[in-house]
Amino acid sequence: MDIKTVCVVGAGLMGQQIALLAAVSGFETYCADTSPEALRRAQDFVDGWLPKRKAKEKITDAQIEYVNKHLHFVSGLEEAANNADIVIEAAVEDLAVKRNIFAQLDGIAPPHAILATNSSYLVSSKIADATARPDKVLNMHFFNPALIMQTVEVVQGPHVSDDTVEKVMELARALGKKPAKVKKEIYGFLCNRIFSVLTKEACYLLDQGIASIEDIDAAVKGAFGHPMGPFELLDMTGIDLEYHLGMERFRETGNLDDRPSPSLTERFGRGDYGRKTGKGYYDYTER
Ligand code: NAD
Repeated sequence: MDIKTVCVVGAGLMGQQIALLAAVSGFETYCADTSPEALRRAQDFVDGWLPKRKAKEKITDAQIEYVNKHLHFVSGLEEAANNADIVIEAAVEDLAVKRNIFAQLDGIAPPHAILATNSSYLVSSKIADATARPDKVLNMHFFNPALIMQTVEVVQGPHVSDDTVEKVMELARALGKKPAKVKKEIYGFLCNRIFSVLTKEACYLLDQGIASIEDIDAAVKGAFGHPMGPFELLDMTGIDLEYHLGMERFRETGNLDDRPSPSLTERFGRGDYGRKTGKGYYDYTER
């Protein structure tokens, strides 16, 4: 395949996993972050993950050796992207930040390089015109935990070439994923749209005092065979993310019903974003 070198921008929750996935799958991988603390945490995550996978016989010594040699956490975008065949941006969910990163990448990455964003809801047409290669700018949306979840949404905005989409679909398969091609840009793509219907109703039932968090989660798991309940999933993916998703949808539609629910807004306001802060719908501080 044409893609040999992968650059990931952002070494947070998603970026560190996407970078590790790329390296384990045999790609030369660079991962950049502006925060030295995030880079250190990402390296610690990799150092902890590899022996655990080895103990479960899910990874070979050769793969571990490859990752140790070919996965580079770096602070500079220049070093990370100047030889990339594809860049997967997984920095904070902020349009201005992403446009700025893409404009910089356009000047650094080789002209053939594809520039993808892992954004949860910002469609690439809002970013593509920050570059001189809009045909190579698209959404490549992984799910958390990216090392495990099978689905990757590959979204073809009106500016994206067929060739770019095909290369990214091929890359996703090489990463062991089952990519879903989204043929038109739509806010929330496929899965977040479907998830938001479920969580919205779960939040409504909670806010109305119809059932408890625990009972709603247990009912959904038991009735539909979902491995996690909607509140467990919200805590894992991040309440901040879901809050911003709701606000973005509300800004687009102007429909008051699209605003984040009271229980979500309350937790967002307190900074209880879920597992990453220790509290969300559940309390993880004792776990
Ligand atoms: P995160 O906050 O854990 O990590 C973001 C990282 O980006 C941080 O380490 C931050 O230091 C870094 N960063 C900020 N500005 C930067 C810059 N200019 N250059 C380089 N690095 C920079 O966030 P996350 O949860 O990993 O989400 C990252 C992206 O992935 C977002 O766009 C989000 O919508 C998307 N996403 C998140 C999930 C999820 O479940 N959390 C799932 C799918 C997609």
